[in-house]
Amino acid sequence: MNAREGRAARVVTWSPSVTLVPTHGCFNACGYCGFRESPDPAAPLADGLSDRGALALMEDRPSASEVLLLSGEVAPGSPHRRRWFGRLLDLSRLALAAGRLPHTNAGPLSRREMAALGRLNPSIGLMLEGLGPAYDALHRRAPSKRLEVRLGQLEQAGRLGIAFTTGLLLGVGESEADRIEALELLSLIQQQWGHIQEVILQPFRPPGRSAQPLTLHESGTLLPVIAAAREILPPEVHLQLPPNLWPLEQLPRALEAGVNDLGGIDIHDVINPAYPQPGQARLQAVLEAEGWELRPRLCVHQGWLDRLPSGLRQAAEACTRRLLHTC
Ligand code: SF4
Repeated sequence: MNAREGRAARVVTWSPSVTLVPTHGCFNACGYCGFRESPDPAAPLADGLSDRGALALMEDRPSASEVLLLSGEVAPGSPHRRRWFGRLLDLSRLALAAGRLPHTNAGPLSRREMAALGRLNPSIGLMLEGLGPAYDALHRRAPSKRLEVRLGQLEQAGRLGIAFTTGLLLGVGESEADRIEALELLSLIQQQWGHIQEVILQPFRPPGRSAQPLTLHESGTLLPVIAAAREILPPEVHLQLPPNLWPLEQLPRALEAGVNDLGGIDIHDVINPAYPQPGQARLQAVLEAEGWELRPRLCVHQGWLDRLPSGLRQAAEACTRRLLHTC
């Protein structure tokens, strides 16, 4: 037996996921976005997904316990906001009725909207993105990306007791100090409310024709921020890295530095379609060779299950059984 075989497996989690997009239309215009389309002012859901289309996508992914509802944003106060938000609720109900768990990432929500969505979604997501001049420049035309708006959302979710996923976009010109300050803010919020289940450390990658995989050198320069995040954030907060945005052979180094989750993985990455997913079998082979066990999870992490309203907890328990049988 060699040393690797002799040591207990270390665990890295992932969530088998299918992504539903109610609309690509978005009133923001972030400087790096390859997902956004200009909304049709008269009918902002014109490019949207029908119930039948949503069910077909779910059926194509029988092992996906998570339904990621990912949407472009409709401005607060827009006459179309109510209809857009109603669609998020309807798709959440559709996912639950199909035996899946919705996890919505659709931008800032009013308190009432977030509370309503929290009764149907075991967890909700919103990236902090980052702070400092590099982000300010990229978000000049994205009012919902202002730092105070994002922090307000994290606190609101904390007050509502909703398990929350947030994260940082890395490599857009931010300084080391900006990264540390952002992580410290997340840590303070977690210490106050205890609802942040995971922080995504997402390397920025150019979209479309400019797509370029992260090089070994570039990923090496990001290892210190992973280590810093592990040190600054409380231990219950999972650290997540999207595996399609990172060189596969370098993934074990990211895990050694502190990453312990690979996030929701669909067949394609809807936000970064130019970066193919490595697939479960390849991931498993690379990780097992280094003594890591790849373990499926729900969109809501185990440690937050007890906080769910009873209906959602029962749905989560049923999905846990699905995970055990299909992954
Ligand atoms: S808010 Fe999201 S969808 Fe809208 S432009 Fe920014 S990154 Fe794109």
